[in-house]
Amino acid sequence: MMNMNVLSSSSPSHCTCGHWYVRHGICLACKEKPSLVQSRPFDYIFSGLRLSQEAVSFTKRLTTLISLHTHKKLHLVLDLDHTLVHTCKVSNLSEGEKYLIEGEKPCLKLYQSRIIKVRPFLEDFLKEADKIFNMYVYTKGNLEYAKELVITKRDSPVTKTLDLVLGDERGIVIVDDRVNVWPHHKRNLLGITRYQYFKHKDINKVLKPSYAESKRDESESSGALANLLKYLKEIHNGFFSCDVQEELDTKDVRLLIKGPFKPHGC
Ligand SMILES: [Zn+2]
Repeated sequence: MMNMNVLSSSSPSHCTCGHWYVRHGICLACKEKPSLVQSRPFDYIFSGLRLSQEAVSFTKRLTTLISLHTHKKLHLVLDLDHTLVHTCKVSNLSEGEKYLIEGEKPCLKLYQSRIIKVRPFLEDFLKEADKIFNMYVYTKGNLEYAKELVITKRDSPVTKTLDLVLGDERGIVIVDDRVNVWPHHKRNLLGITRYQYFKHKDINKVLKPSYAESKRDESESSGALANLLKYLKEIHNGFFSCDVQEELDTKDVRLLIKGPFKPHGC
């Protein structure tokens, strides 16, 4: 009797399928079960999704073309920790910060044993940036509280790369407080001041009290994220300021930002 195993890759096969897109072990095109060695996981998009190398490079180019021509959007890869938020274990709060866990504070969230402080202007920043960029959030942490389109340490264990971002590198802008974690993509990179709200592991800890201790914070209207948004809008305008539509097929955002670069006030 014929069964599915006859079609598996362990059997001789005349299939010429390149098995570009595989989900839960099964090729979406030919329904075979190919070897997974040549593909890499994209679980952050769909659980169980794997793409072959050919599929990755094809999808990157196509995604960017559609994004540029149809939506007038570039790609934005945002670091999470110390760029968009600062988080710390509740048990690591200093004496002067313990007032934070008494009562509701709108810009603070408690998640399991952690306390998360959102950087000032974040909500407006995301809302506005979303109009001109496809956004990815990238973290080196194992952050279960980050549930959006997030690439975590599990997806990309060592340094940060754009391998998992389905966009052409010529259309990607990266924002991170640490330049050295992007050894292969410095030209795409914008630096931003490290956001440190809590005292714990503060590199300046001896010098001054934390924002939390002194009940201060970055400026909402002229802080790093507000200035970053201004700069990103300029870059977006510069990128799309061409008369001929075909120019978008080859235009490169790296020539505009000349990274690594830290925009004014960021
Ligand atoms: Zn196949």
